Formats: sequence, structure tokens, C-alpha cells
Amino acid sequence: MLLSVDTFRSPYLRALEVSTVEEQPAISRRWSELEYQALWYAGAFGSNFRATNGSLVEVIQFGFWNREPGPDFVNAVIRTDGAQEFKGDIELDMNVADWERHGHGDNPAFRNVVLHLFLQNSGSDFFTRTMDHREVVQVQLKTTGLTLTDTESALAKPGACCGPLSNLPEAQLDQVVETAAWIRLERKALALRRSVRIHGIDEALFQALAIALGYKWNKIPFLIIAQRITLGRLRSDRTAAEAILFGLSGFLEQSLSTDQQEDRYLSALWTHWWKLRSELHDLMLRADLWRLGGSRPNNHPHRRLGALAQIASGWSDFRKLTTDLDAAADWFQRLSHPFWDFHYSLRSAPSPRRISLIGTSRVKDIVANVLFPVLVISGNADWTVFKSIRAELGNTLLEIVCLRLFGDSVRGQQHAHFLYQQQGLLQIFEDFCLNDRTDCRACRFPGLIANWQEKEVKGEK
Ligand code: SF4
Repeated sequence: MLLSVDTFRSPYLRALEVSTVEEQPAISRRWSELEYQALWYAGAFGSNFRATNGSLVEVIQFGFWNREPGPDFVNAVIRTDGAQEFKGDIELDMNVADWERHGHGDNPAFRNVVLHLFLQNSGSDFFTRTMDHREVVQVQLKTTGLTLTDTESALAKPGACCGPLSNLPEAQLDQVVETAAWIRLERKALALRRSVRIHGIDEALFQALAIALGYKWNKIPFLIIAQRITLGRLRSDRTAAEAILFGLSGFLEQSLSTDQQEDRYLSALWTHWWKLRSELHDLMLRADLWRLGGSRPNNHPHRRLGALAQIASGWSDFRKLTTDLDAAADWFQRLSHPFWDFHYSLRSAPSPRRISLIGTSRVKDIVANVLFPVLVISGNADWTVFKSIRAELGNTLLEIVCLRLFGDSVRGQQHAHFLYQQQGLLQIFEDFCLNDRTDCRACRFPGLIANWQEKEVKGEK
């Protein structure tokens, strides 16, 4: 694979290591334990960890997400220090002390827990113990580098790197952006590989597509739906698959109104959902997990869920195309649905014009975040091909990223015409801006750019 990116790659990764050393990881204000559990179960935190007692912990099997009272994941297998294997359950808490606060230490249902995951420590030593006084291995999860982090924490204003970036010659700037794009792709491929290991290729792909459709505010609810219902279940009950997705999302409950019952599509969904509602009721998503405003009408989550249902129903066709980037992208672009081709949401009036079920920019996003990583893990990726894919402009997040990195200059937009360039800029934003809590003061990116430029000028590598 071509790599003009090698010279900048090591300094970039080193800067990240320094920037991400933190005592207490950033916790999203919007996410609860449930959302972090979904990320864990998708393999987003990885499978190899350093426990609080210094031992190495490898998760061999992630087990099953428990829907009953008791630990969060059951029948998992972990290995410690490359030697001893333990089979049992896994509990994930926001704070390490929640173990005692929630009474797990005295609860027989938690007797078989072999791994206690937490996001924040309690500030003092805290040992996780079962009711038999067995000490449980603890791992503090790091949220840095997560590919699903919120994008709302970085302010839309020029950052401290505008100066160093403005001094960088065009070719070097493009090399910086390409390096970040390549690192992003490697991470996506790694995340997909982990998910494949836990769920198998079809479920992992389906979850990745659900996340891509949830962009940008609803990735987690889409992931949770895909994890809870599974592609396998949707494919085994094809006539009800669409109703199951809308029922689980809770959107049908919100759209229940007698004056809408004449709506044939909504009524058809309800007809199927009524029969399954008591069985699946416990898996329904809370309404507050969704963010319904703030995106363009044709990106409404209702439409995106309609698209996910269409993808599930055409799964066999899609899977035949996964190694052909153009054909797969074309397949997504041609997806169609009699209701969703003309409606923005379950309750909206029909549009006089046809609306693409999955628009061009979302297809490009699917190419970058799902289809190309599939090619990477199957050994069929061609970076030159990826670099030649043009991108759509007019993306609000990209505008914020360009403002942060380039200020009012048009330079950012000039380096965003290709998909790899947009992906690279997004990666810099996620790696540095979203992990910065010092208003740029402690950010390593400006120094990284300045040092690298100096070395290039001196001809050092
Ligand atoms: S946090 Fe770092 S990368 Fe982001 S704008 Fe500030 S200096 Fe630039």
C-alpha cells in the first residue's frame, strides 16, 4: 500500500499518546451506562487492557448482553497475564464505586463476575469484591480514541493551530491530512475486525451500517437497535422487520394518534408491531436517547431507520457486492421505498418531489467508514483508489473543523475536495480538538506541525 504518509505518522501517534494521558477520561454528558455498554459490546474499547492491579487482561469472549437482572454481560471469558483463563460475567459501571453503591458486592447474582469495567475512579483505592470476598479484576476504560464520541464539545472558533498550519506548504499540509486519513482508516478497520470477532461478519457489518446511518447525533441509538434486534432476527421475520425496527426505536409509540390511523404505512407498521410488542417491549429504546432536531429533514432518524430496514431486506444482494466499492455504493444510492421516497418523517406530509433514501454524502460516508474498512480487513484495499474518490462539500461538521484548524481562511475547504482529505481533517478534529479541555493551551498539534515543518526544512526525517 502506498505510503507517503510514513514520515509524519510516528510523530502524529506520539503526540496523541502524550495528549491522551489523563487521570479521569472525558465522559459524555449525553450518554448513560447503557450507551457505554453498547460501545463495549461493539468492541469499541478494544479487547486488551491493563488492569488496575497491573495485570494484562485479554477478553477472549465478550459473552452475551444480559437482559435479566444481574451483571451486564454473561458467559464471557477473560485471560490474565497471557496464562490463566476465567469464565464468568462482566459488569460495567460509570464509577468504580457504583459496585458497592448498587449493592453488587452482596448480591448473589454477581457472584460469578470476573471483570469489573468502569469509566471513572472514585479518587481513592476501591476493591471490587463479590459476596464471597473474592477480588474481581478491575479495568478502567479509556474514552479517548473512541470513534463514536460526541462532536458537540469543541467550540466553533479558530484554534491555536491556525498559525502553524497556515505556514505549512501545500504538499506538506496534504501529507498531514493524508496521514490522519490513513490512521482513521486503520482504526475503522481495527474496530470492524474486533466487532467481527465478537459478532461475526454479517452482524458486525450491519452494526457498522447502522452507526453510519445514525450520523451524527444518533449513532449510539442506531447501534443499540442493531445489537438488540440483530440482523439474523430481522432476516428471519422479513414481513415484520420494518415494524420491529420502528417499534424498538419507540418512534411508533410517539406517532400513535387516532387522527393518523388512516395513514396506511403507519397502520401497517402498527399491525405487525402489536403482535410483537409484549415480547420485545423491554428492548425498546428510551425516547431521550434520540436527537430528532438539528439535522436536515432528509436526514431525519425516521428516514434513516427506513433505510436500515431496506438494507436488512436486501442483505443477500448487498453482501455479493461488498468487495466491489463502486457497485456497493451504487446499490446504496438506488435503495428506494414507496413511503420514504416521499416522506421526511412518520408524521410529515408527502413531499411533491422524490427524496433519495440514502443521499450521496451519506453513501460517501458509508464508503469511508464501512465499505473501505471491509476491503482493508479482507486484504483487498487500494489506497490509490480511495484517494481518488471525490467528496461532497457543504457539511456543517466539516465547516466547524475547517474553522478550528484554518480560521477564516479558505485553505481548509481547498483541502477537502476528496474523501480522504475530509476523513483526515475529521480525524485531527476527533484526536485533538475533542480531547482538548484547555482551550488549545495543552494541545500538542500546533507544536507537532511546527516541529515537523522545521525538520522538513532542515531535510531531517
Ligand atoms: S485543540 Fe488543538 S487541533 Fe484543535 S483547534 Fe486547538 S490547537 Fe488546533
